[in-house]
Amino acid sequence: RLISAESKSTQEEAIERALRPRRLADYVGQAKIREQLAIFIEAARRRHDTLDHVLLFGPPGLGKTTLAHIIAAEMGVNLRSTSGPVLERAGDLAAILTNLDAHDVLFIDEIHRLSPVVEEILYPALEDFQIDIMIGEGPAARSVKLDLPPFTLVGATTRAGMLTNPLRDRFGIVSRLEFYTAEELTQIVTRSSQLLKVPADSGGALEIARRSRGTPRVANRLLRRVRDFAEVRAAGRITREVADAALLMLDVDHGGLDVMDRKLLSAVIDKFAGGPVGVDNLAAAIGEARDTIEDVLEPYLIQQGFLQRTPRGRMATAAVYRHLGLEHLLGDAQ
Ligand code: ADP
Repeated sequence: RLISAESKSTQEEAIERALRPRRLADYVGQAKIREQLAIFIEAARRRHDTLDHVLLFGPPGLGKTTLAHIIAAEMGVNLRSTSGPVLERAGDLAAILTNLDAHDVLFIDEIHRLSPVVEEILYPALEDFQIDIMIGEGPAARSVKLDLPPFTLVGATTRAGMLTNPLRDRFGIVSRLEFYTAEELTQIVTRSSQLLKVPADSGGALEIARRSRGTPRVANRLLRRVRDFAEVRAAGRITREVADAALLMLDVDHGGLDVMDRKLLSAVIDKFAGGPVGVDNLAAAIGEARDTIEDVLEPYLIQQGFLQRTPRGRMATAAVYRHLGLEHLLGDAQ
């Protein structure tokens, strides 16, 4: 299944599902979105109405899919899930839409990757709960209008800027997910460690949280790797020291940057004298896809103040030179 920017094994997907909070009250952080959704959901429920279409955007692993499931659970309806690249033909989407029950939630991940023909079908479906489909071919072909049950579309995308304007305009609720604070991630790690039955003290949970790139998916993934380390090397218990040793072994540094982060930042400094460098050149230099840089790597580095996006390209900030111990190069670069 083509579902996210990163490829995930089915085992990993199963663990993610198990760790996913099911209700809004268990969803940590994102206070603004949570408050808004709680009100809109309650209002729709009282009116026995369908919730307005929701667009969620933000880097991978911040909880968009989780939120889509929660919306369906709180509305007391089914969730049908698909993704932009999977829907190749108009008929693929039409088949899903005509099979929905009233008020259901349809989740489309990577909605910016819908093909134009599929997007065309979606417009009247979102606006009037109707679709026009072509039946037959050649001179005998005719267009048929079908009524759909009212439904809520929850669309997820890594970058709202990649959506076409007419599609974006059809969402009544548009929310941007933010990176999580270390405190919020500590709560998530603590909850996951209980579900996975891994003893972790507060120092251990905080250490994993601090080094998880502000991202729950990364936090949960690191927790599992640290657990392996703890079981083999440290009698199974995750303390701050155990977490620190495990994370260093995993090449996650004290600032929480991983190998790819450091590779990107080092390339900007070593190969492009600190920048500015265009994202395509950077992608070629480190052998990564441009999309991975834009969706996964740089949002966090920019948020942390390590990278700056300028009209002429990406630039390393003074903070990076300090972080990588390259202060001596600072003078000639800037
Ligand atoms: P996205 O769809 O944005 O890529 P997911 O919704 O798949 O991200 O989230 C990845 C994992 O992170 C989920 O398995 C879930 O356990 C965890 N997670 C995400 N957001 C939260 C949150 N707010 N509270 C607790 N866990 C979360």
